[in-house]
Amino acid sequence: MSKETDQTNRYGKRAVTNIPDDAPLSERPGHKLRSSTEIVDRRRLPPDSPTVQGQTIQTVEGDGESGLIRFSDTESGEHQVPNQFTGPSFRTKQERFRFDGHKMIYHLDRVQAWKRGERFAPVHIDMGLTKFCNTACIYCYAVVQNMTRGTLIQSDALLRFIEDCGQIGVKSLGFIGDGEPTLNPALYDATSLAHTLGVDTAMATNGLLLDLDRAHELLRAMSYIRFNLSAGTPEGFQRVHQSHSRNFDILKENIRTLVALKRQHGYDCTLGIQMVLIPECFDEVIPEAELGAELGVDYFVIKHCSDSEYKELGVDYDDYRDMGERLQQAEALSTDNYVVQVKWNKINAAGETPLYKDGYRKYDVCYGTPFLVQISGNGKVYPCGPFFNKERFLIGDLHETSFKEMVQGERYWQVHKDVSDSVDVHKDCAIGCRQDYINKFLWDLENPPEHVNFI
Ligand code: SF4
Repeated sequence: MSKETDQTNRYGKRAVTNIPDDAPLSERPGHKLRSSTEIVDRRRLPPDSPTVQGQTIQTVEGDGESGLIRFSDTESGEHQVPNQFTGPSFRTKQERFRFDGHKMIYHLDRVQAWKRGERFAPVHIDMGLTKFCNTACIYCYAVVQNMTRGTLIQSDALLRFIEDCGQIGVKSLGFIGDGEPTLNPALYDATSLAHTLGVDTAMATNGLLLDLDRAHELLRAMSYIRFNLSAGTPEGFQRVHQSHSRNFDILKENIRTLVALKRQHGYDCTLGIQMVLIPECFDEVIPEAELGAELGVDYFVIKHCSDSEYKELGVDYDDYRDMGERLQQAEALSTDNYVVQVKWNKINAAGETPLYKDGYRKYDVCYGTPFLVQISGNGKVYPCGPFFNKERFLIGDLHETSFKEMVQGERYWQVHKDVSDSVDVHKDCAIGCRQDYINKFLWDLENPPEHVNFI
């Protein structure tokens, strides 16, 4: 709390100070290099003392060092400030997965190659392993993309693709696509092969058909396994996933088993659950946040529901407007070992100006697809998921052409160029696609402000 002192400043006004009464002050104030060798001993600052700009501070000590953490004065008081954009400090555990952003600054070699107009391998690929599913979640985007029972990338094509990824330097593969990955029996061999070749893998699954006899292979090799679960109660599960409520128990048991195996064997694999927020699961947010803590997963992330450019799912982002408080309550259930996080950037789309809230992008060109390619569960390669099945943007089929040849060939780069030259991101693309964060970064890079040397 600031207080007036007896002294006047050089404008004749009474001086105001925030210095705590019991802070050790040097006898002669002033710049320490000029007039004093004493500095304030931070360890003697009282804990939780209110200070400037509506922030509170907390003193922390460890490894013989002491420091201060500033907290913003929000109701939950959980968020440290600022650390909004440039990334978390080591203390900001809540931000350690960077769900609501991108990691392009760690791949500047590819960015430089792109700037030089060279051909390079994507940093990451999201791919479906099948084009069908054993549940029928009501938010599912894939249903507008010709899901076909029994269609899946064949094992030999998948394994050859993974070898290519290792050879050309693809950094990571997310088995996250149109169909359920555990319905492809090659999942386990593909994961182990990628691990051997130094390609990171991850998976998003409904978790019902996991082969627990082979769970070790996944836990040993994968960076993370994310369970698609948008409910915290059996009733909610039935409603949103259109699956029998007894499957809710099966899923919980499978997650518990993986958590136990991970702990028992010290696997690094991160285990998380993800909710796709739609009105039918608004009431499930808090129960699921509590369920995640009970199951012992590492995180619970809540994201917006993606719709097609024709809005076939009928998602209305205005529905999210009243959810802020409840989502903050869920985030407040985070602990040091359990992150609950909302993808605010996308959830808050409806709070944007009328221009942006209806899908107008904050950039004019999609440059991101060469860095993040998406492959359909039938083995067909496209620049991005929303363009699956659009012949104009089909790069090739992994059953017919090797991925290495594709990346080195003409068609691959023609399609990416077609995207950046011809796609009107404001009209042809739905709100918040996978490449959206990357596109913002690349747009800034291509359109620098004045005086960039004044960093
Ligand atoms: S901006 Fe459009 S073209 Fe680019 S990745 Fe997103 S949906 Fe695809």
